[in-house]
Amino acid sequence: MTPDGIIAGVRTAWAGKRCITILDPCFGVGTQFLDVWAACRADPHRPASLHVVAIAERLPDLASARDVLSAQASPQSAGLTQALLDQWPLPLAGVHRLDFEAGAVTLTLVVGPTAARAGCSARVDHVLGTQSAQTAQTAQTAQTAQTAQSAQSAQSAQSAGSTAAPQREPWGWESAGAGQALVVGAGLSGLAIARALALRGWEVTVLHPGWGDQESRPHRGHAAAALTPVASRDDNVRARLSRAGTLCAQRTWRDLPEDIVTRCGALQLQRQTGRVVDLAELAHALDFPPQWIRYVTPEQASEIAGVTLDRPGLHFPMAMRVQVQPLLESMAATPGVRIVASRVHSLRQQNGEWLALDGAGQVLARAGQAVLACAADVREVLGASGMLQRGSRVDAMHALAGEITMIPAQSALQGLRCTVSGDGYVLPALDGWCVAGGTYVHGATLALVTPEGQTGNLGRAAGLLGTSWTAANLTDRDTLPGWAGWRAVLPGRLPAIGPLAGSPGVWIATGYASRGLTWSSLGGELIGAALAGEPLPVERDLLDEINPN
Ligand SMILES: Cc1cc2nc3c(=O)[nH]c(=O)nc-3n(C[C@H](O)[C@H](O)[C@H](O)COP(=O)(O)OP(=O)(O)OC[C@H]3O[C@@H](n4cnc5c(N)ncnc54)[C@H](O)[C@@H]3O)c2cc1C
Repeated sequence: MTPDGIIAGVRTAWAGKRCITILDPCFGVGTQFLDVWAACRADPHRPASLHVVAIAERLPDLASARDVLSAQASPQSAGLTQALLDQWPLPLAGVHRLDFEAGAVTLTLVVGPTAARAGCSARVDHVLGTQSAQTAQTAQTAQTAQTAQSAQSAQSAQSAGSTAAPQREPWGWESAGAGQALVVGAGLSGLAIARALALRGWEVTVLHPGWGDQESRPHRGHAAAALTPVASRDDNVRARLSRAGTLCAQRTWRDLPEDIVTRCGALQLQRQTGRVVDLAELAHALDFPPQWIRYVTPEQASEIAGVTLDRPGLHFPMAMRVQVQPLLESMAATPGVRIVASRVHSLRQQNGEWLALDGAGQVLARAGQAVLACAADVREVLGASGMLQRGSRVDAMHALAGEITMIPAQSALQGLRCTVSGDGYVLPALDGWCVAGGTYVHGATLALVTPEGQTGNLGRAAGLLGTSWTAANLTDRDTLPGWAGWRAVLPGRLPAIGPLAGSPGVWIATGYASRGLTWSSLGGELIGAALAGEPLPVERDLLDEINPN
């Protein structure tokens, strides 16, 4: 089909629609996407939202993409080329989501050798370069089986949905426009979801006990935390999901000031005991771009860190140090988000709405959609609501206490430029203090800062920093400030994000364990996209892995 024919087909497909999702089965360097976007901008009757899902077996790097696009982009789309290049993703397998025109135009790029098969979940209205009506009909049919697909794989996706796939609660796409949602819990998970929905025009009520009192706000004293991706030699589910989460966080936090989200990078040092993995071999096997991960010698690691390190490791340039409370405050301040200082006891459905009730049965909030994001208490709220499914992933969740310790950034620590991790972690100094963590206290009934915990954290910090730092010089080592809290942990250390089976309109986002920063933006974008009827920003098989049911 000629380019003109393709664009004519697209115009016909979006005529009269408020929102359209188009599948581009062959992304290349994005010339078709740019043509579609340009045609949309030129159309006075354009849809309010244009979503393009594009499949690419391999993504060229930025320099190659620039070369090709400068030679190939059509005159109509030339002005948009730079906007695409500005967000050009690293050539990494997975789903990359790019936003333009304040989210009115999105590009969801599914990249990798199995991209067409892995796919992402989307309701597809039109397939580029086809006799649209017939193929789009096939795409619609496959969507009924809770999948979306490249044009080529539509048939197989459909059969997977009807025969082989386990029963799953659908992720949505019945969006009738922005509505009202209530979110239980104003931690990293709840506020990321509230923000994602509010940016899509939703009115969101977040319920959290004691929010009115600064001292009672979540993560009070949790001065800083680390976002460091996971790497595994076989690029397993956890590594892929952490890549999606990290890239999503990079995107959603891109306008936050550098002191809240510090793009300092992280070094993961080679372990010497326990489960020792050959990191040089791992990095070689993965063959990822160095902007994402690279192996470094002790000398290179020391140069990056600004302190002497005696072990080799992996360098993650996109890792971050985050000030947790300012991040929470910035998300809570999103227009459309309202916070009510109350603890939710249970949910009840009434007249097509979900009611959040306190312990006395009083209604605290009501909305069409309810998101449970109150960490390990999700289990309790579900239980009190009569909605906890025995044997589900969420049923297996438990709370695990832990603490961090603040170390005065004297001498060598003052110069620390990136997160150093391995057994524990040390963050670059913030206001003269480095955060060192963290402990894992099994069977605790309270989360407390303790002398034993501090000793453990100081020992881990000394182990990481080798000869460049010792706790022996600390005069006040028994009275160092710290913070203690809880992690909600699920078997397999993957979060639980998605719709609750059997209770349409109830969503779960919990089990973030030690990686609240990695999972929270992704959880927000997944639930935000699902409720807005947008393509979902991770592959289908990963959605299955984080299914809460
Ligand atoms: C010592 C320690 C160090 C850590 N370091 C890091 C790190 O460096 N990087 C990282 O990414 N992660 C780290 N984590 C993990 C991170 O803190 C969690 O993953 C993250 O807080 C999970 O976010 P959440 O919103 O699910 O839960 P929370 O942050 O715990 O928020 C849930 C909120 O829900 C509220 N709530 C509970 N029940 C109800 C109810 N019934 N009604 C209303 N509200 C309710 C709670 O009061 C709570 O504030 C650390 C955790 C600990 C303990």
